[in-house]
Amino acid sequence: MSWLAELARPEIRALRPYEHATWEPGLVRLHANELPWRAHGDASSAGLNCYPEPHPYALIEALANFYGVAPDAVLAGRGSDEVIDLLVRAYCRAGQDAVLICPPTFGMYAVTARIQGARVLEVPLQPQRGWALDAGALDEALRGPAARAVKLIFLCSPNNPTGNRLDSEAIITLSRELEGRALVVVDEAYVEFARAPSLLAQLPANPGLVLLRTLSKAHGMAGARCGVAIAHAEVIALLRRIIQPYAIAQPSIEAVFRALQPQALARTRERIGALAAEREHMSAALRQLPNVTRVWDSDANFLLVQFADAAAAIARAHGAGMLLRDLRGVGALGQAVRISLGTPEQNERLLACLQ
Ligand code: PMP
Repeated sequence: MSWLAELARPEIRALRPYEHATWEPGLVRLHANELPWRAHGDASSAGLNCYPEPHPYALIEALANFYGVAPDAVLAGRGSDEVIDLLVRAYCRAGQDAVLICPPTFGMYAVTARIQGARVLEVPLQPQRGWALDAGALDEALRGPAARAVKLIFLCSPNNPTGNRLDSEAIITLSRELEGRALVVVDEAYVEFARAPSLLAQLPANPGLVLLRTLSKAHGMAGARCGVAIAHAEVIALLRRIIQPYAIAQPSIEAVFRALQPQALARTRERIGALAAEREHMSAALRQLPNVTRVWDSDANFLLVQFADAAAAIARAHGAGMLLRDLRGVGALGQAVRISLGTPEQNERLLACLQ
């Protein structure tokens, strides 16, 4: 067992995982207390009266193929939200361990840690440097008295809600420095929209690196709930010990297979291109509006926009039937609003009502 598993909670390492019903497709299932008939209107290929595959290996293989890694490097969960939760539960002891986050960032890292009873250390991003990592403050925090407790560092690149990429070299340096002590989790939920590649190629040389990917954003599958951890096989084996059996519902398994077909992937690439064009158009157009004071550069499918009066912008959009994300009062964000890029028609409607 290497440090990647030794870092985990001892009770998780010692746990005897739940023994689910045997998975032998093709045999009559009289071992899982299911109904032998399909529910009315059930058009799924496998039948919703049966439990799905407990740990869906064919799906994991398809995802591994897609990301270009080995199947034992992949864990699939109900969205990356579940994967974040599994990481925190596997590695953080309540009342003792901690996670480190760089706000403003995706809220689930801190919430999940607090639910688990883990402390949350914060090293804010630097707005004056385009929301870059603060390498000096990170170094200090990871040498300080609380540093030993930190088991997971959550970095989000491109970051939600600021939209910028974090410096890959800084991430890799951090991961090397923390080898043996903590995992660096890089949430790449929006990486398909970015102008730089994923850190996938860095995984073999950096065992303490964990990447989070999702089908929810570029693949347009948020409703299916499928997210992925890609990491060293020892980390993945540990997470597999605690993920619920049957985590991915049958309709989602079938939907993800469809999303990974070549035709679907070609459509996804087209849409990523279209969204990038909309991103440039919307950034420029929003900058012209009298109420807008700043539009941050984005590598994601949303824009972080600073208004003179954010409430007025949100109210106008709402009046025109559109929801924007109100970020006023979130850390250093001030009068900030996060605007997801819609279809060209939706974007024009938004611009018109904000005029
Ligand atoms: N990470 C980031 C950075 C996100 O913005 C989101 C969704 N808003 C998630 C993860 C969760 O994604 P999923 O749908 O895969 O749970």
